[in-house]
Amino acid sequence: MDKEYVGFAALPNQLHRKSVKKGFDFTLMVAGESGLGKSTLINSLFLTNLYEDRQLPAASDRLSQTLTIERRGVEIEEGGIKVKLTLVDTPGFGDSVDCSNCWLPVVHFIEEQFEQYLRDESGLNRKNIQDSRVHCCLYFISPFGRGLRPLDVAFLRAVHEKVNIIPVIGKADALMPKEAQALKQKIRDQLKEEEINIYQFPDCDSDEDEDFKRQDAKMKESIPFAVVGSCEVVRDSGPRPVRGRCYSWGTVEVENPHHCDFLNLRRMLVQTHLQDLKEVTHDLLYEGYRARCLQSLARPGARDRSSRRAPRRSRCPCCRWPRQRS
Ligand code: GDP
Repeated sequence: MDKEYVGFAALPNQLHRKSVKKGFDFTLMVAGESGLGKSTLINSLFLTNLYEDRQLPAASDRLSQTLTIERRGVEIEEGGIKVKLTLVDTPGFGDSVDCSNCWLPVVHFIEEQFEQYLRDESGLNRKNIQDSRVHCCLYFISPFGRGLRPLDVAFLRAVHEKVNIIPVIGKADALMPKEAQALKQKIRDQLKEEEINIYQFPDCDSDEDEDFKRQDAKMKESIPFAVVGSCEVVRDSGPRPVRGRCYSWGTVEVENPHHCDFLNLRRMLVQTHLQDLKEVTHDLLYEGYRARCLQSLARPGARDRSSRRAPRRSRCPCCRWPRQRS
């Protein structure tokens, strides 16, 4: 008679079942100049219409428009796995004539989410914390320029230690393959020169199969991803309907790896790196924030300084904990 197997080998299944039951939540931010195809790409990535109710401001309103932060939620299910996706949009970014410091609301927003998490973690109901921290920021770069503009550099520098940045070149159908490669190289060089840290893909485990390793290497080489978005289904471009953009000279297929990096980006976000983006947010970016908070509590002289301040200020500016009394 076959004995029923009892052992630790079933542990991964247990963990898997538990995680699947709980579902995943993920917060994705999109930033970059208006008109670079952000909303279209998000709708194409998640096959939804998240921007149905969007009102586009007139050019005259945009002259002095300030950046706002908008949050939208959608639940996605694929293969029985549910992901609660929160999308954080930053309309108005770089729109006004004077863009100096226009990225500050984004920095504050990201820090507020850390602050909320730290407060919840220190509170009574730690088990049911709603994680609203931003796990990833897709930053859109124009295909029409010659690399990163000063505004791009300023924004990326302001947020690179607070969020996982994934740079993407929007509307990549404007570029020939050679031009796309040159622009990618230029952006990679600029990021290095400016010492901007973007999301670092983890190394592949040595026991992964060769196919996975090849895909992973290709994905890493594609950064910044050159993407094309479209929600239109084209029926006459080949044997099966595809999502694409029709021009008089032909069709750009969104999911064709010879046309753009959309599939690599989607695979990475949805299939392979979602959990890693969350872990890096928690273990590295949030820990950095938390350490800075604790240091500001423990810094010698903090008490003397705080006692001189108004009572409202005698709390840590980051986590709002009362400063230590001795
Ligand atoms: P957003 O302001 O960055 O959200 O940009 P939208 O997604 O609203 O797109 C602005 C315009 O560009 C729309 O007319 C889109 O149809 C068009 N568009 C979106 N994605 C692409 C793309 O990949 N290539 C091209 N050529 N046009 C695009």
